[in-house]
Parts: sequence; structure tokens; C-alpha cells
Amino acid sequence: MSGSVQANNTPISLDSVGITEEVIKYTVGEVHTRYLSSFGEWKLPILVQDLTKFMPIRVHEIRVSDVPKGKIIFGPDGASILIPRAFCRVRRRIEAAHELAHILLNHYSPVQIQGNRTTSYAESLDVFEEWCEKTGRLMLIPEAFLPRLENLSTEVSLGYVIIQVARRWGVPVPTAIMRILDQPMAGEKLRTKQIIVWDVENETANSSQCLLKASWHACRIGFIPHQNKVRLGSITYKAAVHMGTDRYVCGVEEVKIGSLQGIFYVDACPYGIGRYKRVLTVFREPDCCVDPLFKKNTASGDTI
Ligand SMILES: [Zn+2]
Repeated sequence: MSGSVQANNTPISLDSVGITEEVIKYTVGEVHTRYLSSFGEWKLPILVQDLTKFMPIRVHEIRVSDVPKGKIIFGPDGASILIPRAFCRVRRRIEAAHELAHILLNHYSPVQIQGNRTTSYAESLDVFEEWCEKTGRLMLIPEAFLPRLENLSTEVSLGYVIIQVARRWGVPVPTAIMRILDQPMAGEKLRTKQIIVWDVENETANSSQCLLKASWHACRIGFIPHQNKVRLGSITYKAAVHMGTDRYVCGVEEVKIGSLQGIFYVDACPYGIGRYKRVLTVFREPDCCVDPLFKKNTASGDTI
């Protein structure tokens, strides 16, 4: 910890240093310390409502509302947080944690609040938003509970492990991926992989065929067109039609998705229900992996 951050309860002066990774870790650490001394243990998933008790200002309520994105209304004696009704439960949770992060970082960083408007001295508002997003996911997924991916056997489905993290901590799968990537060691295992989340739709009401469209990706190489559709018969497609069987589908195949092209070991896991059915696909170099399709999950609870 650098000299700019003091381990006591006095507000940190960041006028000279701005927000750094260290400060984000410190402020989240303070919240977690107070959480543990209040509750005695982690309650899974961590409720955002519980985190509000450890904010530097009073948070009156977190309310679902017809807003397009999360919003904080500051009053003379505290704040109210509004969360979009259109979001699913896990997205509401990360959105609410993001808004709490605004309150936390506003308190500890050189930020001006004018009415409902927040002006940050970060390099740009986009950077400040990324800090809030990261602070939110750090608050919801404590470091001690992340899987030790660096020790994971190559036979275990990375996609399945990621989905277990998301389920356990009640966050969207992309948030779980970003949280693992926040880790220098564990993130290393994912950093060289290409990862895509696909939305699954039934083609017609009574058809067994479905349509998969790319909705999120963490692909460092290549351009993935938004809404890129999955090829019929591909490993990702097979995972989609086995939705709900708690299996993943893996194997080596030729991939042509935008500029992500070549021979990859593909590991595709279905998850979600109702209109939130999705498939998570991890693409990696095909060197070290076996090739059984429809392999039963080997990632048991104690391996993560
Ligand atoms: Zn924000």
C-alpha cells in the first residue's frame, strides 16, 4: 500500500494522486471489513442492500424504476438509488453496486456533485464509469472466493467454472468474467482465451431450431460483429440445443466468427432460463485438450 492511502477512518486525500487501483482496493476492503464485522461471515450472494450500510453517506433506498440506466438522487441527508425495471435480477444487482461505487468513489476522490449531476476529474467520464463498474464487481465478489484458475486442469470447462462463479455470487456472466480478469494470476488463465456470450432465441414458437446472436465478448484478437449468428451444427449450437442438461459441449473445430478465425478448442456452456437463455463459449488454442463431445462436467464444487 502506498503512502497516499492510510489504513484508518480518516478520509483519504486523493487530490494529488487521483483514483488508482490501490485506492479502489482499499475502499472496497474497508466496506468488506465492516461487512464482516457486522455480519460475522459472507452471506451468499452479498446483498447490495446490506452494502448500503457501509457507505460514507446514508442510502435511503434502492428502488426499481422506469429509468433507462441506474441513477442516484442526492438529497440533503442522503441518497436514493433507482435501478431499471427492464433489467433482470442479476443485472439490477451489478447496476445497484455500480451506483454505490459512485457514492464511495465520490467520497474518496476529487469529484464534484452538482444537483443530480456528477463531474469527475478522472481523465474522462468513461474512465470514471469503468472504475465504478470495477468497484461494484469487487464489492459483490470478494477476492478470497475466486476460483484458483491457475491450478485448474485443462480438462475442466472454463466456461462452466465461470458460470458457477456467476451463480454463486449472483452476478451476470460477463461480470464474473471481468472479475476473474481483474486478478493478475487467475486472470492469466483467461487472458489468452477468446470468450463470447450468445443470446439464444427459438427460431419459431414450435421449432426445435434456435438462433444464437453474439451479445457480449472478451475477444482480444479479432472483431466480433454484434449480433453475429452461430453456424448450425457448430459446438456452440449443440450446447444451445442441449440447454438445461447441465452439460457442456467441447471439441476442436474450425471457427469463422468475424475476424476470429482458425482451429480452436471450443468449450460451450448453456445457462439461464426463459428469455435470458444464453451460451458462453470459450475458444482456446487446441494443443492440450481432449476432444470428447458431450463430456460430463468434471468441475465439481470443490474444484472451484
Ligand atoms: Zn455510472
